[in-house]
Amino acid sequence: LSKQIGGNRITFFSDEMNEHLIARFEMESYLRKALQNNEFSLCYQPLIDLESGKIFGSEALLRWNHPKLGLVPPVKFIPLAEETGLINEIGKWVLNTACMQNKRWQSQGLGHLTISVNVAAQQFQEPNFLSIVQNALQQSELEAKYLTLELTESTMLENIDYSISVMKDLKNMGTKVSIDDFGTGYSSLSYLKDLPINTLKIDRSFINNLKIDTSDIAIVKAIITMGHGLHVKVLAEGVETKEQIDLLKQLKCHYAQGYYIHKPLTIVDFEKGLRESS
Ligand code: C2E
Ligand code: MG
Ligand code: MG
Ligand code: MG
Repeated sequence: LSKQIGGNRITFFSDEMNEHLIARFEMESYLRKALQNNEFSLCYQPLIDLESGKIFGSEALLRWNHPKLGLVPPVKFIPLAEETGLINEIGKWVLNTACMQNKRWQSQGLGHLTISVNVAAQQFQEPNFLSIVQNALQQSELEAKYLTLELTESTMLENIDYSISVMKDLKNMGTKVSIDDFGTGYSSLSYLKDLPINTLKIDRSFINNLKIDTSDIAIVKAIITMGHGLHVKVLAEGVETKEQIDLLKQLKCHYAQGYYIHKPLTIVDFEKGLRESS
C-alpha cells in the first residue's frame, strides 16, 4: 500500500509500519466480532494452599481463538481491547462465565472453591462496575465471598480516592480483592494499610528466578513478612520449580500458582486436577 501511495520516493509509512497498522486494524475488526462469534473461552489455573498442598480456587484466564489468527495470547489483545473500549463488554462476559463455572463446580460437589477474575483499569473505573459484579453474582447464584477480583496497583492508583470507595463497596458486597503483579507497580506502601485488600499476588518476575542466594529472595521475604503483619494473604505467582515451592513454604507464604503446580487448564482438566488433589 505504501508503495502505491508513495508512487516514487515519497512514502508516508515504511512497509513495516504499514503492515503493523493493517494488522492492528484487522485485529481490531476481528476483536469486535469475537464475542458474538463465541471465540472466547476461559481456562482455569489452580491456586493452591502451600500448607495443605490442596487446590482452594482458580484464576480465570481469557483465551481468544480466532479462525484465521489462531490462538491469540492475552498480552496481544487485552491492550487492544482496552484501547478500543471493548474490554468492558469482554470483561463482563468473563465475570459472568467465571462465576457461573465456579458455581457449577460447587453444585457438583467439587468443593467450595474461589474464583479469581482479572479486572482491567477501564472496567474498574466504569460507573456501573459494581452493578456488573452484583449481576454476575445474582445470575450465577454464587456467594460473593467466593469471588475475588484481581486489580493491579496501577488500576487502583489511576484515581485513588475513587478506587478506595469502590473497593470498600466491593468489600461490603462480600467479594474479595487481590493485588495482581504486586511489586511491579508504583503503589506507595502506605496505601496498603488503608485499602481493603485480601491477597497480595507477588509478581512472577520475583518468583521465576527465585533461589536461595538471590536478591529476589530478600524481596519475596519482605512481601511475605509485610503480608503477615497486615493480615493479608500472600500468593506467589509463576512457581516453576520444586525448589521454589520449598522456599516459599519455608518463608510461610500462604498460597501459590504456577506451571510447576498446574498450567491454566480446560474445564475437564481442571476437574481432573481437583479429584487428584483431594
Ligand atoms: P496475570 O493476571 O498476572 O495472570 C497470570 C499469567 O501468568 C497468565 O498468563 C498465566 O498463564 C501465566 N503463568 C502462570 N503460571 C506461570 C508460570 O509458572 N510461568 C510463567 N512463565 N507464566 C505463568 P496469561 O493467561 O497469558 O495472561 C496474561 C495476562 O493477561 C494476565 O496476567 C492478565 O493481566 C491478562 N488477562 C488474562 N485474562 C484476562 C481477563 O479475563 N481480563 C483481563 N482484564 N486481563 C486478563
Ligand atoms: Mg491475574
Ligand atoms: Mg498476576
Ligand atoms: Mg502477572
